[in-house]
Amino acid sequence: MFNATKEELIEFETKIHDLFEEGDLPFLTHLCGGNEDQLIEVFKDVEEGDYIFSTHRTHYHYLLAGGKPDVLEDKIKDGDSMFVFDQKLKFFSSSVLAGCTGIAAGVALSFKMQNKKNKVWCFIGDGAEDEGHFYEAVSLVEGWDLPCTFIVEDNDRSVDTSKKDRRGKDHPIKWPTCVRRYHYTPTYPHAGSDSGKWLKFNQDVLEDHKKKRDRTIFQLNTLSHLHDGVNIFFVKTDYLHHFFHEYQDYDKPITLITGNSDYPILDKMVDTAPSCITRWWGQAINTDSPIVSALPYGIENSVHCHLGEHLGYGHPGGAYKAIVTKTPPTRKPTKDVYANFSETTYKGRPRVAELCREADHITYDIQSVCTDRPYKAFVDNVLDHKMVVCPRGNAPAETHRFWEVLYLGRVPIVKYKKGIAPFLELPVIVLDDWDKLLDLEFLEAEYEKVKDNPTDMLDISYWVERVRDHG
Ligand SMILES: [Mg+2]
Repeated sequence: MFNATKEELIEFETKIHDLFEEGDLPFLTHLCGGNEDQLIEVFKDVEEGDYIFSTHRTHYHYLLAGGKPDVLEDKIKDGDSMFVFDQKLKFFSSSVLAGCTGIAAGVALSFKMQNKKNKVWCFIGDGAEDEGHFYEAVSLVEGWDLPCTFIVEDNDRSVDTSKKDRRGKDHPIKWPTCVRRYHYTPTYPHAGSDSGKWLKFNQDVLEDHKKKRDRTIFQLNTLSHLHDGVNIFFVKTDYLHHFFHEYQDYDKPITLITGNSDYPILDKMVDTAPSCITRWWGQAINTDSPIVSALPYGIENSVHCHLGEHLGYGHPGGAYKAIVTKTPPTRKPTKDVYANFSETTYKGRPRVAELCREADHITYDIQSVCTDRPYKAFVDNVLDHKMVVCPRGNAPAETHRFWEVLYLGRVPIVKYKKGIAPFLELPVIVLDDWDKLLDLEFLEAEYEKVKDNPTDMLDISYWVERVRDHG
């Protein structure tokens, strides 16, 4: 396997070095360099389907394993330089010293037991060579003749300590044949760059990372923690009738939080509400009542409502969605508009689907029936587009998809509905007619207008404060 030239490797790492030097990479990064020729030789023996275990210094390994430079750059910019993983390439890494050695031996054992022809390649530094964990893995591989090769990348330093200083002598340790060694003089220090200056990290980059890290996504069940049973009540919309009956004569003002249902809040429901309800925050709002305000659909609940799962079920698949939408990968879109929705959820959707099929600038990924496709593929597609078509579903205005797209940093396209109005300060394109989907120039102009709109509403604290303030 051979996927990057020496020049490409150096060019890539120089770019990462420069990003670090400029303060645009506020993470600990271990740069590669000086071992291009040796690694290219090693990777000539690596074949498709082989497993590769890397170290804390992953960049060259990943590129030589066939990893794309832009994908790696995004991972590094997300702070994942030491944690590069790629299931497709069978590429793993660990920043724990010698952390992969036992796992590599285990995978090799599994290959042997299954009579598979694949091999395992496990890289370690000369610092990891001192670890007992490595000795155990070598013993297992050697003893059972497992298809695993350990490659000691010997740069004569463990952080900054030479072998002689660590071991008393500088002689190479004799390992069995499953261990290969190459020597090299590293271009860069153990970590960071070589400037020796105090780096001043770019404030915008820091703020951006901080915003992402600190942001808590909106899941309605989180608001159930505001329920105090005295002044604030969390009620699933389906049970409103019962709740109204029970609290008809209640003598304290109530702030009501409702949702977790496709039932909209209509004028006639507000009319039957007891007078003690002075404030009402709800999903799927379709009323002009001055006491009622809209809450987002947000991201599907990943944990049950703490008052009981009958008030809000936490979906098992929601956990992954919650992680991805909280910390979406950094990636630049390469295409314009993405359309991925089920035609069956609402009667207006087939017409929107038809328009999406017609437009060349829209990536058409619509199924006539709801299918359970991997969420990761959906996320990859959304990230690859600037805008995503988000027609309404059973509920009167927005959908979970609308919010997923926003959390992933992309712009949803919706048709105007009363229920969408409270969310229009977000980066959203609102059409008065779906026919506008055919006009790419119009969409691009709208995109430029809204793409930098504020996103405060994506943090649940925005809503918590508002619900409390108006309590
Ligand atoms: Mg070393």
